[in-house]
Amino acid sequence: MKIKIWIDEAGRWPWIGPVVACALSFNPENMPEKSFLSRVNDSKKLTEKKREILYEELIQMSLGENPQVFFGVWIADNFIIDEINIKQANREAMRRALIEIKRKIDVENISTVMIDGNDNYEFEELKKQPIFIIGWDGKIVEIWAASIIAKVFRDKLIVTYSSLYPDMWLENHKWYGTKKHREYLTDKSKVTGIHRVSYKPIKATIEKKEKLLLHICCGPDATVPIMDLKKEYDVVCFWYDPNIQPKPEHDKRVEAFKKVCEIEWVEYIIWEYDVWNFFKKIQWLEHTPEKWDKCTACYDMRLERSALEARKLWIQYWTSTLNTSPHKDLDKMFNLWEKWSIQETIDPKTKESLQDKLEFFKIAFRKNKWFERSVEYTKKHDIYRQNYCGCIYSDTFPGGKQQFLDKLKENKK
Ligand code: SF4
Repeated sequence: MKIKIWIDEAGRWPWIGPVVACALSFNPENMPEKSFLSRVNDSKKLTEKKREILYEELIQMSLGENPQVFFGVWIADNFIIDEINIKQANREAMRRALIEIKRKIDVENISTVMIDGNDNYEFEELKKQPIFIIGWDGKIVEIWAASIIAKVFRDKLIVTYSSLYPDMWLENHKWYGTKKHREYLTDKSKVTGIHRVSYKPIKATIEKKEKLLLHICCGPDATVPIMDLKKEYDVVCFWYDPNIQPKPEHDKRVEAFKKVCEIEWVEYIIWEYDVWNFFKKIQWLEHTPEKWDKCTACYDMRLERSALEARKLWIQYWTSTLNTSPHKDLDKMFNLWEKWSIQETIDPKTKESLQDKLEFFKIAFRKNKWFERSVEYTKKHDIYRQNYCGCIYSDTFPGGKQQFLDKLKENKK
């Protein structure tokens, strides 16, 4: 008696779970009835219900003293797939399925092993290596039977997993690379123990960086923080500095900010120049010395707006380049961050209250040779470097505030 063995697999392409291989042979001395064979078809062309009926029948036919069907099944789970890659895991599942069927058939009786595909695996267990031909699964009833067993076996496993992962719709979708599954993988908390983590979309989800909103006060001060933070975070730079006067100076600094963001390839947002908000905030504090109350109000205004933006964008982490300059009071800044990380912010346009807790980064960017690095960067890329803090009340504001106010009056005329 000479027996041909046919091997097929299921689950090579999905992003989760095992690949399942089935090695199968009909018993030439006790062939299944024609009425059965005529109902067998390629597993992909059968309905789920028909596949399951045929699967149960094949199992029944493999039992007893003189079975009509011999088969062996083996799985290579997602951990094996991640370790040795899907092609080798598929080979391993097929090799083990072969070992299983060899328990039921005398090795001397095996004439040929045939596999659909072009993988050209070799198995040390066989004297004669398998024959690989593409497209057999459309013609050979044994391949169809092997594919039914492999597919139903795998589907049953996946349905079992669905009770563990109810929000992954495993009963209906076997997790092929669809748009729906790509959208499901919003962050690494969605990656489960059954995902194939070596697959690109899963790997990308795991390695995805958390977003961080970085408030920027000027181009030169943005350089080092952006370079350092983007190694670990997906940085979104935010410009809100209506404290800068006059407007052309503000715009010049915005251009420097944009240039740094574009060189560093980071996302940026520029908020409006509502300079009257600044004057309103520092009203009656104008003549306090630099670093004192007017500056605290100025930082506070910018940090409040940045916290609001982080909440609106659902970004949990935030910080600011305000703590770059040694001319700023770091403790005051950290206290304000603490305050806006827990205090609700109100959207001035929609009046919506946003309360999510934010995590601020207590980093003193002024350390680690930031100044030398920043100077080197701005020289190299020709980034505008300002020579006064920002407002007309800055100690080093050119020409003094009176000159600015006179000009402002002239422009209004
Ligand atoms: S001196 Fe600088 S920090 Fe202080 S209020 Fe003016 S712009 Fe703001």
